[in-house]
Amino acid sequence: MKHFFTVGPSQLNANIEKYFKKAMLQNVGSISHRSQAFRDIYKNTDLQLRKLMNIPNTHSIFFMPSASEIWERMITNCVQKKSAHFMNGAFSKKFHEYSQSLGKQTQTFILEDHLGFNDLHKYKIDDDVELICVTLNETSSGAYIQENELVKLKKQHPIKLICADIVSCAPYPKLNFKYLDCAFFSVQKAFGLPAGLGVWIVNDACLEKSKTIKNKSAHHSLENFVKNYATFETPSTPNVLDIFLLGEVATEMNNTGIDAIRKTIEERAKILYDLPLKNKNLEINIANKKNQSQTVVVFNTKIAAQEIIKKLALKNIIIGSGYGAFKTTQIRIGNFPAVSEKAFKSLVKELWNV
Ligand SMILES: *Cc1c(COP(=O)(O)O)cnc(C)c1O
Repeated sequence: MKHFFTVGPSQLNANIEKYFKKAMLQNVGSISHRSQAFRDIYKNTDLQLRKLMNIPNTHSIFFMPSASEIWERMITNCVQKKSAHFMNGAFSKKFHEYSQSLGKQTQTFILEDHLGFNDLHKYKIDDDVELICVTLNETSSGAYIQENELVKLKKQHPIKLICADIVSCAPYPKLNFKYLDCAFFSVQKAFGLPAGLGVWIVNDACLEKSKTIKNKSAHHSLENFVKNYATFETPSTPNVLDIFLLGEVATEMNNTGIDAIRKTIEERAKILYDLPLKNKNLEINIANKKNQSQTVVVFNTKIAAQEIIKKLALKNIIIGSGYGAFKTTQIRIGNFPAVSEKAFKSLVKELWNV
């Protein structure tokens, strides 16, 4: 059996077979998305996510096919003219490109890929910016932005909308939704589920803004989502199976307790970040401790990254290569809850010696 430490798609939840069987018994693949059976599934997943991530009633939870579609929907629904982007890697850059290609003006703050942002509230953001886009966990480089940065940013810009891409860290971050208009993620990363579902968490300020936007696309408008949400339905036929599975995994995580999950992630991250002390072929990519991701650990490698990846693959340990230009000089490790203690120990043992 292979153990995946990839950053998405990633290791599946250990009980996934059981949840698939339960889904089959409940005919999840065939039921109508206008039936009570579906509404109950949506309602349960909604409830479990609220509990897990401390999402208040001021925010709605919508389902999309992917997180990158949410990038586009956030722009089409909440930006008439201009968005601002904090960019320090491939994913935050792509979010920015989506806005540009949709014909919006953009303001950008750019750091090199191995750096992470701090003091976001000190950046001078143009008056006509409507939406500020923050990628909390930059999956390409392993750079993290501390959660309280979002609070300081909102206090500085109370009228502007702020959205956080939490795709490769949710449910790890402790978010205060009082100071956050939107957050979104997809399920093939830290939730350990098959890809094909994006989760869009938005407040009324986003909805009110969307009502003022001219020429927004017909597909997946916020107003449509809100209308359907009143009865726990969706505008189009959603990925019912993944919504069901997410409900099961979120329930399991609530039973374990989010604090215990966070603690395990942090303990394992520390072990990973200590590896360069033992193995001189590895160097931490993000030097500033404050900006080191707990869920995506990236190392620069002194030997070809492919050699390390191949050697571990022989032991059925699958890790990620560097992103884009860093393919041969970095490795990336997904430190997600679905990884078993035993698999984690064997990863660490192998990485001592590469
Ligand atoms: C993976 C990822 C995305 C894209 O998610 P999809 O579900 O593949 O569309 C967006 N942002 C970040 C930070 C990611 O890691």
